[in-house]
Amino acid sequence: METKELFPEILDEIKAVGGDVYRLCYQCGKCDVVCPWNTVTDYSMRKIIREAAFGLTDISSDDIWRCTTCGSCPDRCPRGVKQIDLSVALRTLASNFNIIVPSAAGVKGARSSLGSDGNPLGEDRSKRADWAEGLPVKPFTENAEVLFFGCCYQSYDPRMQKVAAATANILAHAGVEFGILGTKESCCGESVRKTGSEDVFKGLAKDNIKAFIDAGGKKIVVSSPHCFEAFAKEYAEFMVNFEVLHISQFLSELVRDGRLEIPGEISKTVAYHDPCYLGRHNGIYDEPRDLLSSITGLKLVEMESSRESSLCCGGGGGRVWMETVKGERFSDDRIEQARAVGAEVLATACPYCITMLEDSRLTLGAEDELEIRDITEIIQEAILETCKVEKD
Ligand code: SF4
Ligand code: SF4
Repeated sequence: METKELFPEILDEIKAVGGDVYRLCYQCGKCDVVCPWNTVTDYSMRKIIREAAFGLTDISSDDIWRCTTCGSCPDRCPRGVKQIDLSVALRTLASNFNIIVPSAAGVKGARSSLGSDGNPLGEDRSKRADWAEGLPVKPFTENAEVLFFGCCYQSYDPRMQKVAAATANILAHAGVEFGILGTKESCCGESVRKTGSEDVFKGLAKDNIKAFIDAGGKKIVVSSPHCFEAFAKEYAEFMVNFEVLHISQFLSELVRDGRLEIPGEISKTVAYHDPCYLGRHNGIYDEPRDLLSSITGLKLVEMESSRESSLCCGGGGGRVWMETVKGERFSDDRIEQARAVGAEVLATACPYCITMLEDSRLTLGAEDELEIRDITEIIQEAILETCKVEKD
């Protein structure tokens, strides 16, 4: 890239929002080799870093909104550059100038709804616990073993409400005393933070922390890897320390301790998709696989990209609220990878992954050959004879 002129004002702005991580970069390009965007377009994180270093960043470009924060490139960088921090900083900068490209316009609505109702979906806070009606779910009390925190998508999205119901049914079947905070829950804020909206994140984090402490919740079980990332890691910045478990970890504990049996049989070929924020960001690869493998008849297969090299669904970093044009959707490629290994079910453990993959399944016309399912839906099916299912 030719660089003819420096723009120190932009450099100062980038530094002011925490984006001077580019200083370490020596332009080796290893980040670009692993970036999923390079399989669908000519996006280059190396170039973005180079431009930032010279104050040549174009904050009106789509590229600064592309990074899904998938976590593939930070691990590969020989200089320890925090590429995700730079992406967040550039989005913060663009937001501060009120420049949000049309493809990222959904971020504005999500931020607004998060500020008013604590969820990014434009839904009413008073309806947050409606998903639990008719299910064995109680309001959380201090004596309960577990505070179950379903995410915004599980609270409001009809497809994801089925996952919340499956989770509640399994917990009840295992005899776990659990409860929810219902209307006192707010979005974890992880994704909106990655769009460069630190103030909205802080407001949500403070509301949740107060709600957890007021309720006396100590062990928090979450379904979303994004909630896991926020509660277990990001909220620690506020000097709090909650015990947080992803549902795959908690169910594995229940099985290990003999509290949960999965007696049924499912004779299907299942591929497991590692969500970025469960796998790469938090190293949870085995628990979901172990749970699936323990089901009689279920054949677990691995796709071309799995575990540490899992292909991102495209929904992280706030991309779930942005437009991704046909031909650039990673979730489309993931469907093809699942088809290539003969999977009848593509299983995962993240609401964004399910949302993105379900969308691709429909647009690719794969409805009749491939199911997208959360691991809890599969486990629920396997224990169906003894687990009373109120919603499916
Ligand atoms: S891998 Fe690291 S050093 Fe190499 S180009 Fe990317 S950010 Fe720069
Ligand atoms: S975090 Fe993932 S999407 Fe973002 S630049 Fe790195 S590899 Fe690409």
